[in-house]
This record gives sequence, structure tokens and C-alpha cells, in this order.
Amino acid sequence: MRDPSLDRLVIATHNAGKLAEFRELLRPHGVTVLSAGELGLPEPEETGTSFAANARLKAEAAARGTGLPALADDSGLCVAALDGAPGIYSARWAGPDKDFAGAMARIEALLAERGAAAPDARRAHFIAALALVWPDGRVEAVEGRVDGVMVHPPRGRQGFGYDPAFLPDGHDRTFGEMSSDEKHGIPADGGEGLSHRARAFQQLAARLFGAA
Ligand code: IMP
Repeated sequence: MRDPSLDRLVIATHNAGKLAEFRELLRPHGVTVLSAGELGLPEPEETGTSFAANARLKAEAAARGTGLPALADDSGLCVAALDGAPGIYSARWAGPDKDFAGAMARIEALLAERGAAAPDARRAHFIAALALVWPDGRVEAVEGRVDGVMVHPPRGRQGFGYDPAFLPDGHDRTFGEMSSDEKHGIPADGGEGLSHRARAFQQLAARLFGAA
């Protein structure tokens, strides 16, 4: 039987896209989802030096503020030739106006400076760290990753953030050219999801519910 402490769960995000995705992922498990944004909780400053640390501090703040278990996600794009940048600063590279075209152009300019033309020189991965924190301090933490290459020019209008510039290994369409279900969905046959977030969630669901 599912842990009854998970009847109600706070998603520690003010991001409508992430909230919608987690609602979708948690629906089959009968969990009532509340969001930090809807509950008027303040957004803590992301002072951690890793995805995992930032996910944990966001979940801890929401669990403290509500007395309910809280789930947070911290994610980003790491480009190998740029020593893992933008990494935990992925959102910040787009600035307050969320200019991801500009952020993708900045990555491309840095790759060009390094003469990174061949796919092997343009390796990148997305990481999603998830932390679920209970008010009593218990923590479940997982990380999902998807590897691929940076493409230029960016392709596709779906998804968000850096999706149009990322071509996942084994595919000929960028994340920006894929439907949300194709990118983030959990396959019905029990196979592995494609996106970093789907892969992280599958691990968490296996621990919490015994299945994705
Ligand atoms: P966070 O809200 O601090 O976790 O910021 C995550 C940032 O990483 C987003 O603003 C995007 O820039 C980037 N990012 C994370 N996941 C994805 C993805 O699936 N596609 C495209 N960009 C992503």
C-alpha cells in the first residue's frame, strides 16, 4: 500500500510548466498535488552548488512552510566543452526576460570559439535532480540524465528552454521538435522515459510507489 503520508504533496515550484508536468506524473498514484506558488510560499534563493543541493533546499523550505511532504526539482543543461556550463545557472543564462534564444546563441558562440564543429566536440546532457522532503526531515533524492549533442541552428518550437538546441542520442529530432509526451512521457510498457525529468521521476516513483 502507498505511504499515507503522501496523500497530499506540495510541489515546491512557482513554475507553471513544472507543476503541470508533476501533476500529470503523480495523477496515476492518487496523490493530491498542491503548489508552493498557489500556497503563497516564498521562493528560497538557490544558493546550492549542485542540482541536488538546490532541489533539496527548495523542498526543505516548502516542507517547513506547510507541514506537508514537498517535492522539488532542479535541472539544467551541461555542455561538456564548456566545462559543464551553463549547468546550475541554466535559468540565469537566459536572464530575467527568459531569453533562451540568446542563451543558446551564447553557448553556440562559445562552442565556435573552441572550434567545436563535430558532434563529438558538442556533447551535452540535461540533469534533473528531484528531492522529496518530509516535515520530519526524511529525504528521498534521485537524479535523471539524458545525453546528446548541441545542434545549430536550434530546431523546433515545442518544449521550453534549451530544447530546440538539444538532440538526444539515438534520435533525429531535437527536444524542440518532440511532443511533450514523447519527451517527458513514461512509456506504458515499463521502459525508460527519454527526458532527464522522466528518468528521475521513474526512480522516485519506484521507491515511493513500487512502480513508475
Ligand atoms: P531551475 O528552475 O533552476 O531548475 O532551472 C531549470 C532551467 O534549466 C530551465 O530554466 C531551463 O533553462 C533549463 N532546463 C531544464 N530542463 C530543461 C528541459 O527539459 N528542456 C530545456 N531546458 C531545460
